[in-house]
Amino acid sequence: MEYDGATSTAGLNTEEWTMAYDLVIKNGVVIDGSGMPRYRADVGVRHGRITTIGRIRERAREVIDADGQVVAPGIVDGHTHMDAQVFWDPLGTSSCWHGITTVVMGNCGFTLAPCAKADKHMVVRNLQRAEDIPPAAMEAGIDWRWTTFPEFLDCLESLPKGINYSGYIGHSALRTYVMGERAFEQPAGEDDLRAMERELRDALRAGAMGFTTSRSPSHETPDGRPVASRVATWQEVRRLVGVMGEMNAGLFEIAGEGVDRAANDPGLRDYHVRLRDLAVDTGRPITFGVFSRRDVPDTWRRYLALLDETAAAGGRMFAQVHSRSLSALLSFKTQLPFDRLPVWKELRALPLREQAQRLRDPDLRRRLIEAADVRPDHKALGTEAQPANYDWTLVFDTVEGPHRSVAEIARERGCHPAEAMIDLALAKDLDLFFLQPVANEDQDYALELMRHPRTVTTFSDSGAHVSQLMDSSLQTHLLSHWVRTKRAFTLEQAIHMVTFVPATHWGFTDRGLIREGLAADLMVFDPETIAAEMPEVVDDLPGGARRLVQKTRGIAATVVNGEVLLRDGKHTGALPGQLLRGPLARRS
Ligand SMILES: [Zn+2]
Repeated sequence: MEYDGATSTAGLNTEEWTMAYDLVIKNGVVIDGSGMPRYRADVGVRHGRITTIGRIRERAREVIDADGQVVAPGIVDGHTHMDAQVFWDPLGTSSCWHGITTVVMGNCGFTLAPCAKADKHMVVRNLQRAEDIPPAAMEAGIDWRWTTFPEFLDCLESLPKGINYSGYIGHSALRTYVMGERAFEQPAGEDDLRAMERELRDALRAGAMGFTTSRSPSHETPDGRPVASRVATWQEVRRLVGVMGEMNAGLFEIAGEGVDRAANDPGLRDYHVRLRDLAVDTGRPITFGVFSRRDVPDTWRRYLALLDETAAAGGRMFAQVHSRSLSALLSFKTQLPFDRLPVWKELRALPLREQAQRLRDPDLRRRLIEAADVRPDHKALGTEAQPANYDWTLVFDTVEGPHRSVAEIARERGCHPAEAMIDLALAKDLDLFFLQPVANEDQDYALELMRHPRTVTTFSDSGAHVSQLMDSSLQTHLLSHWVRTKRAFTLEQAIHMVTFVPATHWGFTDRGLIREGLAADLMVFDPETIAAEMPEVVDDLPGGARRLVQKTRGIAATVVNGEVLLRDGKHTGALPGQLLRGPLARRS
């Protein structure tokens, strides 16, 4: 495009007018998200959109040389709990470091709206233990400026954002908003149901992605009661999902009933029939996480069968799966399985340096090791560390592994496994992680789950379980482990799985592909080196609380809505992220 600067047009400065592109990514190999084979091309971006794919010769305000690199769509993560974090961390760490440019939050019934500021303690109660987000961080970090869900979305829209956010309305918040304290104790009356339906309609019209709930025994309040959504009858759930059916909009996400914890639970089939029928009756897509568990080996296959059965019956349903085991990350710097045992509790209250000294005292060591054999009550995933199971407590000294079990090392050394843990940690100045898989332990099963055509590889849970889990890197793990090391997928397949597939399921019709006219959410990476780094413990939550973060190597640039958000993992200062409203808000 040639232009004579002397006849400048109103509203455009000369420089902007002469630039055909805001950004050109040159010489890269395009893997476009569709699953089709790669090709070499430049990608030109203007006004936040991909405008040209080909050989670009015109000038651009910014050029990224992607020679030897892959240019792919930004990753879409369909399962996060960034609802609180977005208020204090606009970048959306750790997700943004892994090429993720769009997240869906508000899963499992946990949202911050609708809720009046005066009642926020009730909503925080739903979130804090179930999702392990410190209440002090929420108190210090959130400026509560809404009551209804539409007001909450407007507030989100006004916040600075690095990546794109979208959110469901959560059942626990909705129920608490309408019923107050009764939400934690009683079934809803007809008036309650009508009020919930009304709020849900308003939320969907304003741009909620859908409705979420939890019926999971894992989800408790700090005082050990079920979160509010778990008190609901199935009829209440049907009424609310029915609202989405009437409006022909929105997804239903559910953290499932505890019918899959024991082999051959007769409740499992009943639950599956209810889910199938709800999908068929309402026509709305239903989605939930599915993980294999070593203690109930075949249950996950029954969930996969349910997906196909529902499709055959005329309903829509897809499962959210993970690229590796679901693990708690333990360390002296964060949590250990022994922390609630009296002798340990005393030790663990001390500063880390003092703990290291005392761990060398033979008498205390003996008492700690003896105490380690006492099993505390089994607690829910993601809330407190699980009781020690040394065959499934792995030394996490490299990301890629292999990871040896503490039991194996103890046998080799002829010592108690707890002693092995102490000595291994002391040898690293207590800076050593242990990995405790709690689901999806068998990687052949994890692969089979990812390969099912009605599953989506997502479920990072980012924003939640901040002190224990490190799942924001599950998509990076797919690219480094399953593509590069195991060759279980081609890069084209893997990119498709984490871009176009989730973008389609969640209805982001202008994302998830590299195609002219679509939003310019892009990642530029080296397929030979992309990998998650070791997690780190940082104290950066509002109020100074601790969390785990995990970075990536091998990603040269992350582009959101046409602006470069990260270069080699460093924030450029741009905050190009948007609130993505759901289908009804877009239709109007
Ligand atoms: Zn969740």
